[in-house]
Amino acid sequence: AYSEAIDAPKIPKVSWEDVGGLSDLKEEIMRTVICCMVMMPLCFSFSGILLYGPPGTGKTLLAKAVATECSLNFLSVKGPELLNMYVGQSEENVREVFNRARAAVPCIIFFDELDSLAPNRGRSGDSGGVMDRVISQLLAELDGLQKSSQLFVIGATNRPDLIDPALLRPGRFDKLLYVGVAEDKESQLSIMKALTRRFQLRSDVNLEDVVSLLPAKLTGADLYSVCSHAWLIALRTLINKLTHDGSSVPSAVEVGVEDFREAIINLTPSVSKEDLAYF
Ligand code: ATP
Repeated sequence: AYSEAIDAPKIPKVSWEDVGGLSDLKEEIMRTVICCMVMMPLCFSFSGILLYGPPGTGKTLLAKAVATECSLNFLSVKGPELLNMYVGQSEENVREVFNRARAAVPCIIFFDELDSLAPNRGRSGDSGGVMDRVISQLLAELDGLQKSSQLFVIGATNRPDLIDPALLRPGRFDKLLYVGVAEDKESQLSIMKALTRRFQLRSDVNLEDVVSLLPAKLTGADLYSVCSHAWLIALRTLINKLTHDGSSVPSAVEVGVEDFREAIINLTPSVSKEDLAYF
């Protein structure tokens, strides 16, 4: 049964410091969540958030960081996982997700790939079919949330245009926030700082110089790949050194500027100009 596949909701371990840049977004999401969950009686209306933008830009990370900072349980589901070939099972899965979250309040439900769960009904040509029933179930659950202050929903998608407009009406996923690529050096630097927080950097590393070697328009996931690659290169060099000169194993892998340089040479940005033109 799908219910067994759902991870138990729990408070994530992603702190604000793990999220580089995106400070306006952090503030806006935090404000909305606090307003809806903590100050509900003062809140004008309930609203969910839809984070949209290219893959790897930090949508999941942001949602988890908000849950961590507010000490809220977090239940993450991917749209396609809920869909099931058996009649009635997909909408039952949606119901199950909300039941699980209700049993773990205060809780954020994070719907990744929301477009696959709630595609525009006009386009899917599925009137009265499974998608229609899934969307109806989702709408019923969302509308029920208005009375509860302890559950909050965040959706994420790369294709907001494919989502059924009924999902985006007031009181549902009505706050659309764009999460974009790191365009300028300043945002790239903030993300690099967050990603190398637990690194032991060699004294020759100045992250501003490293960032100056990066191409424009990178996602957080691209920068993560640069950092993890640089760390692996440093590890490889260290292993070579240890096997050659037999020196003792240090307490940490020191990452140097040439490790970053090599990692950057091998980097292929994941989001192309054409992809970005779409947003
Ligand atoms: P998808 O659309 O593919 O689900 P996403 O937008 O949810 O992507 P995340 O899963 O949040 O992207 O990001 C992928 C990884 O990239 C993160 O686990 C993290 O390592 C890194 N990352 C992305 N954005 C940032 C950021 N702003 N600061 C630090 N790390 C980041």
